[in-house]
Amino acid sequence: MTQRSDEGNVAPGAEAFQVRDDGIGETVICATCGVQRQVVSAQTCPVCADERQYLPEGGQRWITPEELARRHYNTMTEEEPGLYSIRTEPAFAIGQRALLLATPHGNVLWDCLSLIDDATIAAIRSKGGLAAIAISHPHFYGAMRVWSRAFGGVPIWIHDADRQWIPDPAPEIRTWSGSTKPLPGDLTLIHVGGHFDGSQVLHWPAGAGGHGVALAGDNPNVCADHRWVTFMRSFPNYIPLAADEAERVVAALRPHAFDRLYGWTPERVMRQDAKRSIERSLIRHVRALRGEHGAVTWSARA
Ligand SMILES: [Zn+2]
Ligand SMILES: [Zn+2]
Repeated sequence: MTQRSDEGNVAPGAEAFQVRDDGIGETVICATCGVQRQVVSAQTCPVCADERQYLPEGGQRWITPEELARRHYNTMTEEEPGLYSIRTEPAFAIGQRALLLATPHGNVLWDCLSLIDDATIAAIRSKGGLAAIAISHPHFYGAMRVWSRAFGGVPIWIHDADRQWIPDPAPEIRTWSGSTKPLPGDLTLIHVGGHFDGSQVLHWPAGAGGHGVALAGDNPNVCADHRWVTFMRSFPNYIPLAADEAERVVAALRPHAFDRLYGWTPERVMRQDAKRSIERSLIRHVRALRGEHGAVTWSARA
């Protein structure tokens, strides 16, 4: 690992990271969450130091983009007409997929991966390239700036409530505030909050044969039993979302018509009846928090 000076910069004479020709400079990628940041800002990964994530035993590990590309590749799979999953194999860090939404008015990448290589760029160009990137929350930032620059510096839309988590502020990273934001192709970003203050969901009304699709990342999170979702502050550390926060997530989704919900891996898709299932799941979640299963006592709640 590269040595650092007291100021946090790479020390002169230390083993240097390879400089990428993308104008961003030397970067490293957190091996636990997959978020890329400039070497000068990389000490302990703030995303992993947060209570929603974790640092591995042995402490912070960084790898270079070159190391990642040597051992991994991306695959692209059609999920339904106009929607493609992009995933890194073998799985890296959190292991999420990105989704490419192709519309007649431009394509949008939903969530992001740490790995981008020439084959991935060519595959996306063959579908019409990218007009914008939007990311549900900080766990899935990946190498978002490199992805943007590979497609001409397209905007990366992040909700303003997550501004503090942006690794290296840059012109291509745009924040928005408010409850909804239109994107190209009749898509809408919905601010739902919950898992992160700035968590957002992408709504695609033309998806699922015109019944509507929501791309949610992990909030709400499609369960192993695909008829249900759950609402969590932390998945690896098993911290449930408070009842009022979960209610706010569902309330933000309520005005939007959709029947299908795509989660953060290909294994987590609610194919139909998503809106009713989310409402049912909210009731189950709140009942569980209130002690329906006897796991929470009044004294514990005080
Ligand atoms: Zn991290
Ligand atoms: Zn997350």
